[in-house]
Amino acid sequence: MSADRDTKLGFATRSVHAGYNSSDFEGALNPPIVMSSTFAFDNVAQGAGRFSGEESGHFYSRISNPTQAVLETRLADLEEGEAALATASGMGAITATLWTLLAPGDQLLVDKTVYGCTFSFMQHGLQKFGVNICFADFTDPEDIQAKLTEQTKLIYFETPANPNMRVIDIAAVTALVKAYNPTIKCMVDNTYCTPALQRPLTLGADIVVHSATKYLGGHGDLIAGAVVADAETIEQIRMYGLKDMTGAVIAPLNVFLILRGIKTLQLRMERHCQNAQAIADMLDQHPDVDQVFYPGLKNDPWHLIASQQMDDFGGMIALELKGGYEAAVKLLNKLKLAKLAVSLGDAETLVQHPASMTHSTYTLEERGEHGITEGLVRISAGLEAVEDIIADLEQGLAD
Ligand SMILES: *Cc1c(COP(=O)(O)O)cnc(C)c1O
Repeated sequence: MSADRDTKLGFATRSVHAGYNSSDFEGALNPPIVMSSTFAFDNVAQGAGRFSGEESGHFYSRISNPTQAVLETRLADLEEGEAALATASGMGAITATLWTLLAPGDQLLVDKTVYGCTFSFMQHGLQKFGVNICFADFTDPEDIQAKLTEQTKLIYFETPANPNMRVIDIAAVTALVKAYNPTIKCMVDNTYCTPALQRPLTLGADIVVHSATKYLGGHGDLIAGAVVADAETIEQIRMYGLKDMTGAVIAPLNVFLILRGIKTLQLRMERHCQNAQAIADMLDQHPDVDQVFYPGLKNDPWHLIASQQMDDFGGMIALELKGGYEAAVKLLNKLKLAKLAVSLGDAETLVQHPASMTHSTYTLEERGEHGITEGLVRISAGLEAVEDIIADLEQGLAD
């Protein structure tokens, strides 16, 4: 079949085919891994044309590569965006984008809970270069409204937020910001959901970023990232943030592995969601558990918004034990099947302690202000038999 973009085809179909036409590669059903740093020109005029952008075609793999181009077309298709850029890591995608779009004097308005290194880059990095970082509670429209200024250039959030699972209403927040000033760019980190569960560009966002290390790759065997946006923005990020400022170029082998991962994205997400729901239901009933943060629970404060903007509730859960930090440490040290490890979206169930691990880039006071409690435990529900995951958590919680 033709792999031309066609949004009328189902998500699973596009996950397998979009952006790739096997007849361009002697019928090979999987794209070749093009291991070439440079690409030969027929003549000087062609080389000059490729450098100036007047002629399409690859010329150096810090800018683009044929294997990478397949992944970029596929991701743009799945996120329903115009274009995409694949990068060496999620942080590579986030930093290349923000370095490209922000300048000294600009205000960057950020939700109060974001991934630890994203926070660190903004608060401890960008701020040094004259960008004004301002945090707001994006679940509260009045707080956003109060913090928008003439200098606001970009707003940034995750939903559900890593690690505490706050859910932000993408359509409401982007509408509010665009009503204030339509030129403000709205950027969403869609790592937790992937386009299989949530497509922020269809809800009013301008830019989506991913850590492809997580569900997109899906097998815990690589580090990668991506940005999806309109073609002009992607071209700017590619030619400035990627090429000159970060050099965060993805390796063609990793591109291949992500393309392979994406073929089963929807299947995997279905099972991650089913397992997470069953784990959250068990934890919610457990006498030693104080609170479970999972939007699939009917009593979760974000259940309604999540039902509206997500196709399912995702594979990530957070919880707080009645015994606080000490009880959390005891649980983590007792788990046998679930691995004590950062990262998420792997086949293995991964459990970690944000305050001492992924979110230790926040100081203790910053964690307090940003809603990341010291006793919080984060679970990435894996693809194992759910009764085995539940049995492991139950033995971990038992005295
Ligand atoms: C892991 C993660 C990142 C960073 O991605 P890397 O691939 O580790 O660089 C960014 N955002 C979220 C939500 C993440 O979970």
